[in-house]
Amino acid sequence: MELWYTEKQTESFGITAKIKQTYVHEQTDFQELAMIETEEWGNMLVLDGMVMTTVRDEFVYHEMVTHPALFTHPNPEKVLVVGGGDGGVIREVLKHPKVKEAVLVDIDGKVIEYSRRYLPSIAGKLDDPRVSVQVGDGFRHIHERKNEYDVILADTTEPVGPAVQLFTRGFYQAISESLKEDGLFVAQTDNPWFKADLIRSVNRDVKLVFPIVRVYTANIPTYPSGLWTFTMGSKRYDPLSVRTEDIAELETKYYTPRLHHAAFALPKFVEDLTK
Ligand code: SAM
Repeated sequence: MELWYTEKQTESFGITAKIKQTYVHEQTDFQELAMIETEEWGNMLVLDGMVMTTVRDEFVYHEMVTHPALFTHPNPEKVLVVGGGDGGVIREVLKHPKVKEAVLVDIDGKVIEYSRRYLPSIAGKLDDPRVSVQVGDGFRHIHERKNEYDVILADTTEPVGPAVQLFTRGFYQAISESLKEDGLFVAQTDNPWFKADLIRSVNRDVKLVFPIVRVYTANIPTYPSGLWTFTMGSKRYDPLSVRTEDIAELETKYYTPRLHHAAFALPKFVEDLTK
């Protein structure tokens, strides 16, 4: 018998992958969690019916949440990852030699536990001595920290369940306060085909708090529509002012110094969401 996993993007459209086996399928204290082996994409983490990451294409998302921000900030010593319990963003953050401390706050310890077990190529750097892994609410963590971080990366689920408050103006205001005076942040902000309103409202809200706001995109085949957006809010540094020749070549598979600028060139219908 063939088993297929389908993520519905709307009531009439979805993406689907053939399942080889299901390792875990349970309700945690916060969300429905599944760890599946798929034929095409390898092991896949699914939360509340949405693909979070797969072994085959994870590098796109994790590199693109991280490197545009860490190459825009000239001295990113202390970095916070909100969510990100699979460890992929932490792995990328640690590629930057200027990073002295990386803090990860994910609300769901089960995501961290199962990622360590079933996604070792993604979670493998969570035990690095520069990393502090904390299980807790990122919204709360940010409210309790002032003037502390150089860079904050919001690697969260879509705005359902525990992540709803991570897409509000109050969150961006709190992020601003927990960043140092020249800090910046990046949040994943979903796709422009099915979530145009979200991108528009996040853009409007972040502009109320940060003087520099830039949206960029990446192609992620296992996310709805494949075209994904990220929003950067910055107090001082503009990602568009970074000189290509000042960006170091890291060991990456998607991000390059050339792509840094290219990613910010938006298709017209996406650009329109940012006006
Ligand atoms: N890359 C994914 C995507 O865009 O589909 C998201 C990665 S997944 C690891 C996101 C993580 O955010 C989950 O592990 C979830 O537990 C965590 N999360 C959701 N709400 C949170 C909150 N309020 N505080 C901290 N982590 C949260």
